[in-house]
Amino acid sequence: MSVRVPLSSEFVNGDVSFWYRSMGVPAPGPRLDGDLDADVAIVGAGYTGLWTAYYLKRARPSLRVVLLEQEFAGFGASGRNGGWLTGDLAGSHERYGEGARRLQREMYTSIDEVIAVCEKEGIDCDLVKGGVLNVARTPAQVSRLRESVESARPWGIGEEDLRLVNPGDHLRVAGAIEGSWSPHCARIQPAKLAQGLARVVRDLGVPIYERTPVTEIAPHRAVTPYGTVTAGHVIRATEGFTSRLRGLRRQWLPMNSSMIVTEPLPESFWDEVGWRGAELLGDMAHYYMYAQRTADDRIAFGGRGRPYLYGSRVDARGHTHEWTVEALWSLLTEFFPAARSSSVAHAWSGVLGVPRDWCSTVHVDPSTGLGWAGGYTGHGVTTTNLAGRTLRDLVLGEETELTSLPWVGRRVRAWEPEPLRWIGVHAMYRLYRVADERERTMPRTSVLARFADLITGH
Ligand SMILES: Cc1cc2nc3c(=O)[nH]c(=O)nc-3n(C[C@H](O)[C@H](O)[C@H](O)COP(=O)(O)OP(=O)(O)OC[C@H]3O[C@@H](n4cnc5c(N)ncnc54)[C@H](O)[C@@H]3O)c2cc1C
Repeated sequence: MSVRVPLSSEFVNGDVSFWYRSMGVPAPGPRLDGDLDADVAIVGAGYTGLWTAYYLKRARPSLRVVLLEQEFAGFGASGRNGGWLTGDLAGSHERYGEGARRLQREMYTSIDEVIAVCEKEGIDCDLVKGGVLNVARTPAQVSRLRESVESARPWGIGEEDLRLVNPGDHLRVAGAIEGSWSPHCARIQPAKLAQGLARVVRDLGVPIYERTPVTEIAPHRAVTPYGTVTAGHVIRATEGFTSRLRGLRRQWLPMNSSMIVTEPLPESFWDEVGWRGAELLGDMAHYYMYAQRTADDRIAFGGRGRPYLYGSRVDARGHTHEWTVEALWSLLTEFFPAARSSSVAHAWSGVLGVPRDWCSTVHVDPSTGLGWAGGYTGHGVTTTNLAGRTLRDLVLGEETELTSLPWVGRRVRAWEPEPLRWIGVHAMYRLYRVADERERTMPRTSVLARFADLITGH
């Protein structure tokens, strides 16, 4: 592909994400300075780590909780994502088995829980619960869209939760044939949520040791170059970076997702496309997209970028390949031809943690004190909140509604060793791209996409 992308004069590639531009990339705070005793040590200060610390301190103010973060709070996906506070579960309901209906309800409830905490704690993160529209732009996508709505019903997702709509009634996407609408989604500015949570957690008395990479996690121990934290519980909240920890290289595949953001668009643009509020927008392509209208009237538009680096390496600062910027811009202007007069202000990328069966897990082993949550596969903005409350109950040894949810304690097999992992993921992406092309003229999902799903367990 070679598309001329109009870059704004202040275009930035990487530097963590656009979301930090208005507030500045935070200067990391103090490092751990010597050995330390704690009740709970949490490794990773993204949403998972921050929510867990928040709920633990609110439940037991006397608990000594510490956060250990390799860079700064909100450096990972939590400071880079598309800002969909979504009610969708990672993976398929079937795989969670019995209890998936309850888990789904908890996901919906968690959106309102995040909203309530933001209000209570004075976290301003441009949050608006405006719902989500998913569009189908080919007949094959229409059949998938209808199937997705129909197959949701047995899981307690009723007409009021998700329904088929005429997409133009919500917003006008070029070529959209049919859409689905759900009220269960809110727009956020991701870095503002991460930074807001970090402030609240610090105010509750939780130190966040930044620039402090954990090199080893063992029962009751988190080892860093600057000292070892000894704790009753050690919680791993490292998501897409987990593969860098010893013994965990094949646990969750670090998959890339990339975004671009336009310069602010004029009122005439929003009138023309009928995008009046903070509705989120997605589609049914295999090489899917996700978008939001930002609080300052830009389109933030994301999708699958360069998928995966050999050996589960992680490209940390978010620099995005030129090809990906071209592909995202090309799709954005295909969706909204009127946006062609705009330009791209920023491009960035981040990593998601993808388990072999694409379903999330949360776990605490009482005998070792080790715990974790993650494998959100791009659905973590809401799920991390549920994870934080569940980890609280598990750490405190309380049996609650949350600790009996079906994602608690799930065991998932590891990914294949290299080069199979690399070959599998790259084949999946290649097949999805070809399948999307073919589906422009096909009534049903391409067999290539079904084959891709089969080899990667998607
Ligand atoms: C571009 C992009 C778009 C996305 N869009 C959406 C969306 O719209 N909606 C949605 O629901 N989800 C989305 N996601 C996924 C979502 O952002 C994540 O699921 C969620 O933020 C995960 O939070 P986390 O705290 O578990 O992980 P992270 O935010 O990645 O945090 C992990 C933290 O651990 C730290 N860390 C890692 N290893 C170590 C170590 N050894 N020692 C110390 N610290 C360590 C990292 O620096 C990082 O700060 C998106 C992700 C990306 C990348």
